[in-house]
Amino acid sequence: MPEKLLSIEQKRPQGDWRDAKVEFRKGTICYSAAPKNITYLGLPNPRQWQPFDADWKLPPNWKQTVLEGMKERLQKYRSFRLFMEICVRCGACADKCHFYVGSGDPKNMPVLRAELMRSVYRRYFTLTGRLLGALVGARELTEDVIKEWFYYFYQCTGCRRCSVFCPYGIDTAEITMMGRELLDLIGCNINWVMEPAANCLRTGNHLGVQPHAFQDSIQFAADEVEDITGLPIEVPINRKGAEILFVMPSADYFATPHYYTLLGYLMLFHEIGLDYTLSAYASEGGNFGLFSSHELTKRLNAKIYEEAKRLRVKWILGGECGHMWRVFHQYMDTMNGPADFLEPPVSPITGTRFENARSTRAVHICEFTADLIHHGKLRLDRGRNDRWNVTYHDSCNPSRAMGLLEEPRYVLKSVCRNFHEMPANTIREQTFCCGSGAGLGTDENLEMRLRGGFPRANAVKYVKEKHGVNLLACICAIDKATLPTLMEYWVPGVEVAGVHELLGNALVMTGEKERTADLRGEPLVREEATRE
Ligand code: SF4
Ligand code: SF4
Repeated sequence: MPEKLLSIEQKRPQGDWRDAKVEFRKGTICYSAAPKNITYLGLPNPRQWQPFDADWKLPPNWKQTVLEGMKERLQKYRSFRLFMEICVRCGACADKCHFYVGSGDPKNMPVLRAELMRSVYRRYFTLTGRLLGALVGARELTEDVIKEWFYYFYQCTGCRRCSVFCPYGIDTAEITMMGRELLDLIGCNINWVMEPAANCLRTGNHLGVQPHAFQDSIQFAADEVEDITGLPIEVPINRKGAEILFVMPSADYFATPHYYTLLGYLMLFHEIGLDYTLSAYASEGGNFGLFSSHELTKRLNAKIYEEAKRLRVKWILGGECGHMWRVFHQYMDTMNGPADFLEPPVSPITGTRFENARSTRAVHICEFTADLIHHGKLRLDRGRNDRWNVTYHDSCNPSRAMGLLEEPRYVLKSVCRNFHEMPANTIREQTFCCGSGAGLGTDENLEMRLRGGFPRANAVKYVKEKHGVNLLACICAIDKATLPTLMEYWVPGVEVAGVHELLGNALVMTGEKERTADLRGEPLVREEATRE
């Protein structure tokens, strides 16, 4: 019941905050990774255990392993070292985390989440901490601290909203990433991250879809486009010498509402005659390695450039996905590049040079489509989206990690007539997370997801009541998977869609039959009063 989750107590913690005892309650945590997945990935300490167990069966040398891992990372990552040192506890970040807002748990304040790690850093890596201990906020690394890390570093979606408000730019998401890396070293990780990662390593995508099944799914989508438009379309897979490799999250071809986004891409590519190919191995843009460690991120990402090289394309176009773009934009070219076998991307339709992608050689589909619209290359009938009253959720990674703020809005306003923004402090750089990113989008921790998603849902509720909004558009596969549940719980009556689903509805394709239904198979409804 929403009323129950709304009774959020924001009060001072009982006793000393350094007391690390955590209550593991079902609904608030994710379950441990199955040993077969840890083994497949070649990660240490696979074993049967669960967070509820008193004995986590930690390896005998667990403490030494964690401290050595911490030392290595303090030497390797300047940002980690800096973030361990510079927080002045001003509190500007304290109420900015959606998990704190939704749970009232003080250890979900970004400053305190980071302090869980800093206190150990002080004890083992600073002179004052070694000499003065608790007096300077240092504490011993104990099994209870490990359990507390697991609890709170898997209650952070790495959304980076807190960092927007920190005067020092401290990025708590990076501290969370370090926490998860250290936990990985002793085999304390979650199945919702490790199983998709293992599948990805084996077949290229999260669900373990093999090449023939991938081809069937894509053909099914092509047939569906033909049913809707009357136009037979071809979707090339593994075609060597194509100009562009298109990479999307696998959810686009096996989940809804993502699937309608895929239909939109295919319609667009057919209409503009794009010379492109899909890859049956780079069949996943998403990268759950990001929710585990830099090393795993790198391993899972490697297939993107490898496939681009094998297929001899000129550049890469990427679909609607959040963390895929965090990796593409912030890590890919330094982790697995330089991709100097590719060319700086140029739109074959408009001639636009995507200077922002000069290094990665990868362009976001919203940049690509916005450029087409800007140059008048698409015929669009906005009235075909009249049944929707749309608002836009800035997915955390595209907005905060790559600054993709205007292009999705430009596309949306070009393809629908009813668009309303949520309040300014809940969108763009300040967007609130869905509450289910970073590998937390399972049902095991549903209570925590609903709590963490509450601030986002609250802003949607505002525009629903004020403007009658009934559709939440977004450009992230995890959002599309988890926001429907969030909406159903907090704001019933609001559906979720990708930007390119709405583009596909509005796109007037050369030679198409008269459309009577939208991509969901629902009858097209126009608002007669505003018909253009
Ligand atoms: S990164 Fe996001 S989830 Fe993590 S502490 Fe900051 S605001 Fe909270
Ligand atoms: S805003 Fe930055 S400096 Fe201030 S308490 Fe938070 S992390 Fe520390």
